[in-house]
Amino acid sequence: MEKPQDEFLPFSRPSLSEEAIAEVVSCLRSGWITTGPRVQRFEEALKAYHGNAPFALALSSATAGLHLALAALRLVPGDEVITSPMTFAATLNTIVIAGGRPVLVDVAPDSYNIDVAAIEGAITERTRAIVPVHFAGVPVDLDPLYALAERHGLRVIEDAAHAIGTEYKGRIIGSFGDTQVFSFHPNKNITTGEGGAVITRDAGLAADVALARFHGMDREAWNRFGKSGSLHYEIVAPGFKYNMMDMQAALGLHQLPALEGFIARRTALAERYLARLSDWPQWRLPRPPAYAHKPAWHLFAPLLEPEAAGMDRDTFMAGMKARNIGTGIHYRAAHLYPYYRDRYGYRLGDFPHAEAVSERIVSLPLFPAMTDADQDRVIDAMSDLFAKA
Ligand SMILES: *Cc1c(COP(=O)(O)O)cnc(C)c1O
Repeated sequence: MEKPQDEFLPFSRPSLSEEAIAEVVSCLRSGWITTGPRVQRFEEALKAYHGNAPFALALSSATAGLHLALAALRLVPGDEVITSPMTFAATLNTIVIAGGRPVLVDVAPDSYNIDVAAIEGAITERTRAIVPVHFAGVPVDLDPLYALAERHGLRVIEDAAHAIGTEYKGRIIGSFGDTQVFSFHPNKNITTGEGGAVITRDAGLAADVALARFHGMDREAWNRFGKSGSLHYEIVAPGFKYNMMDMQAALGLHQLPALEGFIARRTALAERYLARLSDWPQWRLPRPPAYAHKPAWHLFAPLLEPEAAGMDRDTFMAGMKARNIGTGIHYRAAHLYPYYRDRYGYRLGDFPHAEAVSERIVSLPLFPAMTDADQDRVIDAMSDLFAKA
């Protein structure tokens, strides 16, 4: 049998309770597996969790949510949407798909989040919206960002894929502001397999998302085959197929109540990494912003100091893999992907802070079921790797 230290330790792994698994099985046995009563219950739970938000729309992914929230802005060619280059490609891709031009603003020098003070310089008469990304579950400084958006009449669609459970100045992300998009991908802080949700306080945007997520049918037609469903529907817009299934919501109904415990464990592990690695010259550890907040610790992603480490980030990751430890890159700066270079002319050097992060960032293993012994293995493997460099 493999000894525990020989098993591969992934950088992330979902925690699914027996109750969650049993709920999926009940869903399968119920005869109703696609969008239905469990999705409705999950949406109610999401609203309640986010300070009784008026609208929560469950979807097949956060990418779908970003797409539909941005589509609701009815961008016309030439309209600009400001976001950060330090994000997953979906943030930029959906801006383009919704008809906008992504305008990037560098991250702050000491942070992985957009430099809010630099946003104003990027606003033009074509700017329509800002898409801040709460990187790793650390909130963007939303008070000045919303003040700026209000001054310029801009919409704010928060990419909160990392930030379910994050608090900014005592308030949960998603309980205030314009619109937030959450992800329930297996690597995220709670999961429905694949899945996402839009939370909004805008009835018009909510109606647009509700329509577009299911073919453009004029009423929530999911129950048209049931006893209470109506016989007919109309297509009032060409819509997408972005609905969440009850099989997925079955997981979400059990993941959401577990979130607080997940974040507590992530926080304990992150604080243990911070304490254990505090005097390692090989790492620049994440630095919390000065404003009041509580991070959801979606990622523990320090920057490798290649000189002190005697190796670059890719060599480090390969060395950890050889020691049975998984790591991840979140993310390479999005403006350097071929599509964004070719279409918008972005170049190396355009966003130096994001590029410095992009080259050096590594996600170390962090997930709720990770034990202190697992974490010791990570730290021992790093010691061994650096000692041999
Ligand atoms: C994961 C992620 C997304 C996309 O989420 P999906 O649910 O996989 O579509 C978007 N933005 C960021 C920052 C993400 O991390």
